[in-house]
Amino acid sequence: MKRIAILGSTGSIGCQTLNVVRRHANLFDVEVLVAGSNAGLLIEQAREFSPNMVIIADKTKYHEVNEALKDTDTKVFAGIESACDAVEMDSVDIVVAAIVGFAGLKPTLHAVRAGKPIALANKETMVVAGALVTDEARRNNVAILPVDSEHSAIFQTLQGERNNTVDKILLTASGGPFFGRRRDELKDVTLEQALQHPNWKMGRKVTIDSASMMNKGLEVIEAKWLFGVDADRIDVIVHRQSVVHSMVQFVDGSIKAQLGTATMETPIQYALSYPHRIESYIPRFCFWDHPQLTFERPDMETFGCLALAYDAISRGGNIPCVMNAANEVAVQRFIDGRMPFLGIADFVGEAMVKASYIAQPSLEQLMQCDAETRMKLSE
Ligand code: NDP
Repeated sequence: MKRIAILGSTGSIGCQTLNVVRRHANLFDVEVLVAGSNAGLLIEQAREFSPNMVIIADKTKYHEVNEALKDTDTKVFAGIESACDAVEMDSVDIVVAAIVGFAGLKPTLHAVRAGKPIALANKETMVVAGALVTDEARRNNVAILPVDSEHSAIFQTLQGERNNTVDKILLTASGGPFFGRRRDELKDVTLEQALQHPNWKMGRKVTIDSASMMNKGLEVIEAKWLFGVDADRIDVIVHRQSVVHSMVQFVDGSIKAQLGTATMETPIQYALSYPHRIESYIPRFCFWDHPQLTFERPDMETFGCLALAYDAISRGGNIPCVMNAANEVAVQRFIDGRMPFLGIADFVGEAMVKASYIAQPSLEQLMQCDAETRMKLSE
């Protein structure tokens, strides 16, 4: 039995993780659930999975959750600090990091420092603090098991290739709902249109990031840190069908790819069961239904966020942190109807230009940089 702590259990990845647990109740047990503010769903999940502990980050919801679970053995806590403590418990075997955004960094880092394997969905953690997190993981001998489908694909293709040199990482991108359009055709796109992802059903923030292609930019940075490959050897390839989840080209020119049905349950399950593969009930991929797979160049002029992400990695230091904070602010404004879609890239680019540079930021400096960037941008 692997005992799991799920950070962000009420989100899209969190719920799909619980689907995997439901199907493999003989292998996985839920020890800790952490939600942001969705008290109702957290209570439901606690009643079904009987975890040792649940934590609601939003302290104003503590009373509601505590009252609802009074007749159970589940302990209830509130605040993100409690999540940081919970992931360190001896009774936790693996931590699923599925909080969205910068908020996921602190509890994930606590888990790494406590030596817990991480099933990592929260890509912003790697974008903001990739150097720190990979360094701590090495020091504590912690496996970071990617959940992002592209990174899981790369991780899977690298199995058995330990001493062989990677020439290139070929990161596939669906292109989101707007691929193929030019800048002037994106002026008036609405939130509803941006939320219509062609292949994946995900949380709002990552769906908007997919539409702007910032998501792919964040993934390039995530791949750099997870696999130790410089950004100039990470190519983005638009592959509209999301069948090839990503590829690795080795020094001999040989390319290995991982393919399959587009569902997050496969990479989540692989991260939980690693190094083993276990039965999955996901419908099998059928080649006859997909007679054509296409591969295209990304349009970095229209999708300026992707170019900004490459710029952020080449500048390094705290710049990816600034980019991430500005993007979180911009996406929220777009969701609230206070910024046009094209404003996202302009807003993030401007924040990066104005940022003061820190070459090797500590965790405290990153926390401060994130807070300051958000504060300046909300002025
Ligand atoms: P969702 O928006 O669906 O879920 C986010 C989760 O984080 C919710 O449980 C939410 O709680 C919780 N949360 C938000 N803010 C806080 C906070 N301040 N403290 C504690 N918990 C918080 O996002 P997704 O599941 O889609 O994405 C999660 C992460 O996984 C993101 O980093 C995303 O980029 C990545 N990812 C997602 C994929 C997907 O298919 N969804 C694919 C690959 C990567 P509540 O709802 O209770 O407020």
